[in-house]
Amino acid sequence: MALQNIGAGNKDDAFYRYKMPRMITKIEGRGNGIKTNVVNMVDIAKALGRPASYTTKYFGCELGAQSKFDEKTGTSHVNGAHDTAKLAGLLENFIKKFVQCYGCGNPETEVIITKSQMINLKCAACGFISEVDMRDKLTTFIIKNPPESKKGSKDKKAMRRAEKERLKEGEAADEELKKIKKEAAKKKGSSKDAVSKASSKKKSHNSDEDHSPTGSQADEHEPAAAADDSDDDIQWQTDTSSVAAQQAIQQQLNAVTAGMVMLSANEEKSKSGKNSPRREVKPRVNGQSNGVKSVNPQEELVETMKDYIKKGSPVSELKSFLESLSGTPQEIINALFEALFEGVGKGFSKEVVKKKNYITAAVQEEGSQLMMLHAIESFCGKASPEAVKEVALVLKALYDDDVLEEEFIVEWYEKGLKGENKGDPIWKNVKPFVEWLQSAESESEEE
Ligand SMILES: [Zn+2]
Repeated sequence: MALQNIGAGNKDDAFYRYKMPRMITKIEGRGNGIKTNVVNMVDIAKALGRPASYTTKYFGCELGAQSKFDEKTGTSHVNGAHDTAKLAGLLENFIKKFVQCYGCGNPETEVIITKSQMINLKCAACGFISEVDMRDKLTTFIIKNPPESKKGSKDKKAMRRAEKERLKEGEAADEELKKIKKEAAKKKGSSKDAVSKASSKKKSHNSDEDHSPTGSQADEHEPAAAADDSDDDIQWQTDTSSVAAQQAIQQQLNAVTAGMVMLSANEEKSKSGKNSPRREVKPRVNGQSNGVKSVNPQEELVETMKDYIKKGSPVSELKSFLESLSGTPQEIINALFEALFEGVGKGFSKEVVKKKNYITAAVQEEGSQLMMLHAIESFCGKASPEAVKEVALVLKALYDDDVLEEEFIVEWYEKGLKGENKGDPIWKNVKPFVEWLQSAESESEEE
């Protein structure tokens, strides 16, 4: 199944974990009875955690056309002939209004209808409550057809499981895309080849639907576009209109998605930063560091750690390397965390996901989970406010990957609230996540 990132602003982020299937549509009937079948609406809606009836109705509302989602057969129809790019553009608007958290942009939210009949989205990652604009026509439909309630715990569990699967599938899809891109770049000279490669790939993606593009489509492509922008070539079925749709989406970026675009720009910067010449700090291991009092030992540990990371030594050796260092286990974990993420701002949680192998390797015993949490706390004490804002996302990512367990997160949080750093902004940022964790866990025990 061909997947793409959820949210237009995340389109080019190869590390984004939330994926949905690319839309496939089919024109059916003719004349007055012509209609568009969104073939994989159910799968897309599932990935978004929304009923397929919402997305189908949204298309109808936006296009001023009749629409119908058949619960029994799972078919989604919109009257009239609409091309895939147009509907995909509308779906992006739906995601921005009814799926993504307005606070952090995370698509894992729950629809809540308040007592006063307002629609809120509760974010599972940061706890933010987004208030949906009730002037949108779809809100009437949602109020009349509320999401199934009280299945919350099962849904949450299922969502988490689905999320993990999506992650796996997504990684595979990203790998495949990279391969295709590489091949296309290689054949830049003979760009005709690249085009046919990409389009034959596309055909194989869609081969189970009688919707594969005709052979003549390859000729419509600008050769340069095929080589540089093979993403578009693969994702969309009607390229020329999808470019226009993408541009329209870009123009509609709200503050949240604009922030995400900024975020990927920042990442570019930090990537280029990695190529800067290495600092001339000699690693001082054990005995060597004895007697050196002019340097702050913690800073020295951080530098040693950075050198180790730069060398690209296998993560499997990290544990024994950490044990070879002088300092308390807590100091060493603090130094590791700082070395990995020093200077990070917006995009902190993504960096953590990228480098989680190091964290996993350092947190092999249960006792070290608390130390890792303290390391995160200490890091946030020095980090930029943008980074601290993402601390809940960081914890959630590590929780999802079973690096950090609930009991330790809760213990750390409760002690932290009473501890000497209790005034720290970190606790306020972590609070919704801890509450979510506790509610999700106690509900799932009923299963
Ligand atoms: Zn959020």
